[in-house]
Amino acid sequence: MTAADSTTKFIFVTGGVTSSLGKGIISASLAKLLQARGYTATIQKLDPYINIDPGTLNPYEHGECYVTEDGAETDLDLGHYERFLNTPTSQANNVTTGRIYQSVIDKERRGDYLGETVQVIPHITDEIKHCIKLLGEDNKYDFVITEIGGTVGDIESLPYVEAIRQLRWELGNRCVVIHLTLVPYLAAAKELKTKPTQHSVKTMQEYGVQPDILVCRTEKPLNESIRSKIALFCNVGSESVIESIDTDSIYKVPLLMREEKLDLQVLKKTKMSANCMPELHSWELFINRLENPVSKTKVALVGKYVELMDAYKSIIESLIHAGTSNECKVELKMVHSEHITPQNISALLGDVNGILVAPGFGERGIEGKIAAIEFARVKRVPFFGICLGMQCATIEFARNVLGMKEAHSIEMDPNTPHPVIDIMENQKKISLMGGTMRLGAYECKLTAQTKASDIYAKEFISERHRHRFEFNNKYLEIFEKNGMIASGFNPGSGLVEIMEVKDHPWFIGVQFHPEYKSTVAAPHPLFRSFIKAAMDFGNNQNQL
Ligand code: GLN
Repeated sequence: MTAADSTTKFIFVTGGVTSSLGKGIISASLAKLLQARGYTATIQKLDPYINIDPGTLNPYEHGECYVTEDGAETDLDLGHYERFLNTPTSQANNVTTGRIYQSVIDKERRGDYLGETVQVIPHITDEIKHCIKLLGEDNKYDFVITEIGGTVGDIESLPYVEAIRQLRWELGNRCVVIHLTLVPYLAAAKELKTKPTQHSVKTMQEYGVQPDILVCRTEKPLNESIRSKIALFCNVGSESVIESIDTDSIYKVPLLMREEKLDLQVLKKTKMSANCMPELHSWELFINRLENPVSKTKVALVGKYVELMDAYKSIIESLIHAGTSNECKVELKMVHSEHITPQNISALLGDVNGILVAPGFGERGIEGKIAAIEFARVKRVPFFGICLGMQCATIEFARNVLGMKEAHSIEMDPNTPHPVIDIMENQKKISLMGGTMRLGAYECKLTAQTKASDIYAKEFISERHRHRFEFNNKYLEIFEKNGMIASGFNPGSGLVEIMEVKDHPWFIGVQFHPEYKSTVAAPHPLFRSFIKAAMDFGNNQNQL
């Protein structure tokens, strides 16, 4: 079946006025509502930057790099899509301008264009349309929701808006355009202002695209007269003016969108049945627990991007899922690894019930991470190390328990006499940076009678990876003899996946990234168990 025979509906989500209006959350919420009505939906993010993928981007640019099952390094919005929908995404769900151009240029070099002049229209726009329609093939989904990154009016967004214009022409009412705008409140005038929305819609119209639905981000409720005014000036019915009010949790947005009938509008415009009501019982239960915790616990997240919450998005969301399933509010203390010294460590970490050491790359802040791990090990505070956090835990153990004072990862010190973390054999000859790490889902076999195997209650698990270095198995015997054991291995290669300290209430380091798999419907078992351990630690402290 080709895209032309498909009955899949294509929903586009664009943004105007400013960035950060929450397009990703609105897309994920709409998909959630459609899914809750029994429809199948997937979400795709088109990013107008020229990087091939965000894998090479500094977290200061666009926050965390999210990794899919198939090993794609993607925008962090894909994390929201998975956390809301509980279904995996893939490389096809995130496409950048860089990837579009790469593919067009490869075709040009192969001679596929048979001597034509290769141009933005139609070649680039055709490639964009191809990437959108690809997800609609074989009617795998009732709805494909495509979020366009950036803001309408930016030069780099133009080919995407043009592709939407063409697709609407081609597919008629199988397409719906949802445009997000900002309705600011001017305190001096005590009024919500609609002009930025009017201008933003005008920009869309100039490009030949009339939005069908406007989602208006606002800090105050939109009254009927504001809705009618926006409707009148922007050529939409007032029922298609949807209020998106600020809220304290992204997980409340699907419920707010249900109240605003965003899903109903989409179903009406695509001529799909709206007979079934969205079934959101377990979602509501989650919100209820989130709002009414029975206890609370404080956990430190030690990393080097603490001023930038987006850098650890999936970890922070996983902690929220885990707290909620334990009916516990997790208070997060962000601790900058570069600021940790032997003098201030008790002051920085003395009041927390759990210490999570974050993933990362490079030398900066490494010694602070190692000091935090020593503190957790010696003071018996629950410790969770993820990727670099696990690597640092083995370095700390080698230095402070095994007496290998100069132990290190060869990422930080290529000449260390004790490379407890080494480069993977198949990574040695790689000099290119993009997409060259060990990426995506790999199987792991858990060792019986270990904490990891108790937590997962399974023999085989699969978790996602994003790293170049690994535990050096030459040291495994001496580690295990002294109390740090490997409780998970890759069954094929024997690479160590999980390390734990036996004589400790909860000390686990994982080479993989469990945070990519935690969802609202299925909070991750390691995070759940870590929070439970932190709660127990806090209770014990109170009894002392
Ligand atoms: N820098 C380490 C490596 O490449 C850890 C990576 C990470 O924490 N994601 O192996």
